[in-house]
Amino acid sequence: MAAGGNIFNAMLQEFDGAARLLGLDPGIWKILTHPKRQITVSCPIQMDNGQIEVFTGYRVQYNITLGPAKGGIRYHPDVSLDEVTALAAWMTWKCAVAHIPFGGGKGGIICDPTQMSRRELEALTRRYVAEIVDAIGPDKDVPAPDVNTNDQIMAWIMDTYSMHVGYTATAVVTGKPIEMGGSLGRREATGRGVMITTREAAKHLKFDIKGATVAVQGFGNVGSVSADLLTKIGARVIAVTDWKGGVYNKAGLDITKMIDFAKQHKTIDGFPGGEPLENNDLFKLDVDVLVPAALENQITMENAPTIKAKVIAEGANGPTTPDAHKHLHDRGVFVIPDILANAGGVTTSYFEWVQDRHGYFWEEEEVNKRLEAKMMEAFDDVLQTSIRYKTDLRTAAYIVAINRVATVTRMRGMYA
Ligand code: GLU
Repeated sequence: MAAGGNIFNAMLQEFDGAARLLGLDPGIWKILTHPKRQITVSCPIQMDNGQIEVFTGYRVQYNITLGPAKGGIRYHPDVSLDEVTALAAWMTWKCAVAHIPFGGGKGGIICDPTQMSRRELEALTRRYVAEIVDAIGPDKDVPAPDVNTNDQIMAWIMDTYSMHVGYTATAVVTGKPIEMGGSLGRREATGRGVMITTREAAKHLKFDIKGATVAVQGFGNVGSVSADLLTKIGARVIAVTDWKGGVYNKAGLDITKMIDFAKQHKTIDGFPGGEPLENNDLFKLDVDVLVPAALENQITMENAPTIKAKVIAEGANGPTTPDAHKHLHDRGVFVIPDILANAGGVTTSYFEWVQDRHGYFWEEEEVNKRLEAKMMEAFDDVLQTSIRYKTDLRTAAYIVAINRVATVTRMRGMYA
């Protein structure tokens, strides 16, 4: 995934194109292309077999100009400092596009959670939090779930931090269980944002989302909820692939059944409601909408020329390489960029943080109504900017984001 430092470079390429169009001042340009803080920690854990293992963890606070650093923590064997830094930069732009008062951060631990017991995962999580405890906090840096992390892991993070500071600090992390300060609607929020931006894209391109065909890569939190909510507004999800395999059904897949199947089997591979499908073939399908909701660098120049979709909604972070993106844009594919399409998660994380700090919790309807308003505002800001600057939506989203962060950087001025 992150071989040779290519992910942060991809972020820089995207940034440069937008900064040039914006006429960004060279000094601010330098500030915004450097991570503010990168932390690397070693986390020794006693494994269930009695042996000690040491895991490497990272937390990067890319930029905190607009507020506390915000962003998830992922557990994956391919995590690297390069990847976490790129993801932290993307969080900075995502929060700015979503117009929420956060900077950008990201964390990761190099590990394979599928090979670890619950006790080992808890020990690793607690040790990682203990190692970065001085750097995080409701006003400093607020983690959340990402690839292979969930509400239980967020509960352990909240508890470990609270034990260290000596009181219960719910707002230190978002994506928590509802019972302990989580927000209703947070689990579905990223997929809901994907659904809203896809629906708006269809409106803009003047095709009916009802009956539109959809292919989804990835069936974790983002892919499964996107598929479910797109189905609920009348789209027909005809193909899904995940880390193990895939399923295709021209008449449409039963997503509710597929979610139950995935809960039991940890994969959708073997789901009885369709024919088997290879991940490579997913990109070739004749669909209206493609939702990459897995990992980075999935759409490359190897498969981009085969893509037939009118709309690509990037549920994942960084799923499309810059050259593949250029190719798709030149061919007229409407790519809703990650920092817009998947911003629903962090937006509802913001709502969770606000509710925790008030100690007053909203109804789910209220959360979803506010999310809808924020996503519509962000979609419109990016679309209008793309029209004004005659550019693609990704560059436009960066222009919106960079402009917001740069304005406040200038207003705050230079310290020392
Ligand atoms: N990990 C999610 C993302 O990439 C959510 C981050 C958050 O809620 O802070 O946007």
